[in-house]
Amino acid sequence: MRIAVLAVQGAFEEHEKVLWKLGAKTVQLRKAEDLKEKFDGLILPGGESTVQGKLLRELSMLPALREKITNGLPTLATCAGLILLAKHIADENTVHIGTLPVTVKRNAYGRQLGSFHYANGYFQGVGAFPMEFIRAPYVESISDGVETLAAVEGRIVGVQYKSQIAVAFHPELGGDSRIHEYFLRQI
Ligand code: GLN
Repeated sequence: MRIAVLAVQGAFEEHEKVLWKLGAKTVQLRKAEDLKEKFDGLILPGGESTVQGKLLRELSMLPALREKITNGLPTLATCAGLILLAKHIADENTVHIGTLPVTVKRNAYGRQLGSFHYANGYFQGVGAFPMEFIRAPYVESISDGVETLAAVEGRIVGVQYKSQIAVAFHPELGGDSRIHEYFLRQI
């Protein structure tokens, strides 16, 4: 199995390491031409969504990414990746890829709680899962057809819509690869 990892900015290497551990091959997407490679799934890593969005526009990568995801490419998006996927960003007019019918709120936990470890996380289909949040967004609202996979204190932090899985936290950082396994099982 070959998984593409968006590698224009952010925590893409950590995802690659988890995928290698699980026996998957990876290909880095750094420019539009890389999108012509063959791959079975896509990971959109955490980082800074405004920077990633700007680079994806400058590199002319948005239309092809949008098309592949709309056509059913299994996609796992984490943190900034969730913001890239969202159809709406609260209090902003920006839309990046825009294939996931949810509204996300960026930097949503205030300054003090911007980054935290949530030990009692639960992820549908995976079970108990400790979660690392880093200046994380949360999902403010979801449209029909979007399933909630995880919530923390009443706030949605994991969703699935068709072949897109998106989480507000960083499953690549805790040394627990079960969310990546869950993603690979969908392929
Ligand atoms: N705060 C970042 C953003 O708005 C997301 C943070 C992250 O990916 N860890 O893009």
